[in-house]
Amino acid sequence: MNYSTPTMSLERKVFCNRTLNLRSIRAIGYDMDYTLVHYHVEEWEQRAYEYLKQQLAAQGWPVHNLQFDPQMVCRGLVIDTEKGNLIKTNRFGFVKHAMHGISKLDFETQRQTYSRTIVDLAEKRWVFLNTLFSLSEGCIYAQLVDLLDQRLIPEVLGYSDLYERVKTVLEAAHMEGRLKADIINNPERYIILDAETPLALLDQYYAGKKLMLITNSEWHYTVPMMNYTFNRFLPHGMTWRDLFEIVVVGARKPAFFTTYQPFFEVVDDAGNLKPNSNRLQKGTAYLGGSARELEKYLGLSGDEILYVGDHMFGDVHVTKNVLRWRTALILRELEDEIRSVQSFHQKEIELSALMERKENLEAKICQARTDLQRLQHQYGPQTASSAQDLEKLIESFRVELNRLDEITGPLAKAAAELNNPEWGLLLRAGNDKSYLAYQLERYADIYSSRVSNFLNISPFAYLRSPQGSLPHDSVLEKTSTQHLLSDKK
Ligand SMILES: [Mg+2]
Repeated sequence: MNYSTPTMSLERKVFCNRTLNLRSIRAIGYDMDYTLVHYHVEEWEQRAYEYLKQQLAAQGWPVHNLQFDPQMVCRGLVIDTEKGNLIKTNRFGFVKHAMHGISKLDFETQRQTYSRTIVDLAEKRWVFLNTLFSLSEGCIYAQLVDLLDQRLIPEVLGYSDLYERVKTVLEAAHMEGRLKADIINNPERYIILDAETPLALLDQYYAGKKLMLITNSEWHYTVPMMNYTFNRFLPHGMTWRDLFEIVVVGARKPAFFTTYQPFFEVVDDAGNLKPNSNRLQKGTAYLGGSARELEKYLGLSGDEILYVGDHMFGDVHVTKNVLRWRTALILRELEDEIRSVQSFHQKEIELSALMERKENLEAKICQARTDLQRLQHQYGPQTASSAQDLEKLIESFRVELNRLDEITGPLAKAAAELNNPEWGLLLRAGNDKSYLAYQLERYADIYSSRVSNFLNISPFAYLRSPQGSLPHDSVLEKTSTQHLLSDKK
């Protein structure tokens, strides 16, 4: 019998940081927004931005001409509320790119501002843009910084005060309520349907996994979203409620994972509640509650539970740190990220070859300078060349280096602008990993662009992490390849 596993494109793979045997996972918890239910980001954020703007205009702020720019901000950036900047840092917290208002900081200003700074997200100064919901917030903040600099918002006392005010408007419950009412009324405009997501969950359900929905959204929003995205794709007579052993709405993550709060039972379709004094019941929906209580009900330990969400902090970081649940991060942008890298592949090879030539030349210049220094001060091993010859040699290397830089420069610039002209790749910062990549490695056992990618691995898969790598690994790899090649000659 000819039997093959589903073929998957690279951008739809499930990637593994830490080995995970799905067979030993007995329960899987899912976040809803941007995890099980995916939205048209620009539509949603555009609308969120318009509401924000209306609120600010109502306070008399001169925001009428501002326009939402979805390219201006991406997930993983950090707002520096002290300086009014948007920044991108590498995995060590060093600032690699910065924008003040909507203008990029030039290299020198950026160096002067941040050369002594290591971003520590525990400090209140920094606001990490955790999810796709952050794009409108980051964009309007950057634009307001420009207005503040022009002294057009006199009642605001500075960049931190500005951020607080934006946040207050953003968190005003009625804004989210209006936005969600729009989505309930026009789901086809905001939601991207994916028939494969319910299928992936059906596979897990029939493989005996206990599925749970744990969302911060309220009952009156969760029900129409799940009805719309799931029921049409499920077998006849089945609804999304049949898939989930436990449903938790209004979960208040991350507090859900760290504190003990009581569960309230949702007793009818209208979302009426009653305090829950009994053990949790299969097939029931609750509001509030805590992960500890849920663990007790499941009778499982942390490593038998997988939690899948799109929020680096609320879904993945806390879950992993506090409960030691296994974690999966959904990062939709990964698909564009991987496609960009693939499209640049040939040029990347050229760039690497050029960089290797550059490094060799630099090494030769350094050696010649050391030789010249030893000659001039008469110490250490000496070369046969005269000082004049060495100076000429250094000069010729420099000319060659400049010529090489002229070719390398545009290629390196194109590499830095992959995916987003301002910020580049989400998971890279310069030559290094970005802070988002660092968090992804640290807190997510596995990651993928969407939940339906689980279809490609089945609920029984044994996912193995690739061998880790440190700087000396790549040198060793290169050396052993060279040995192999020279052995073949
Ligand atoms: Mg979410």
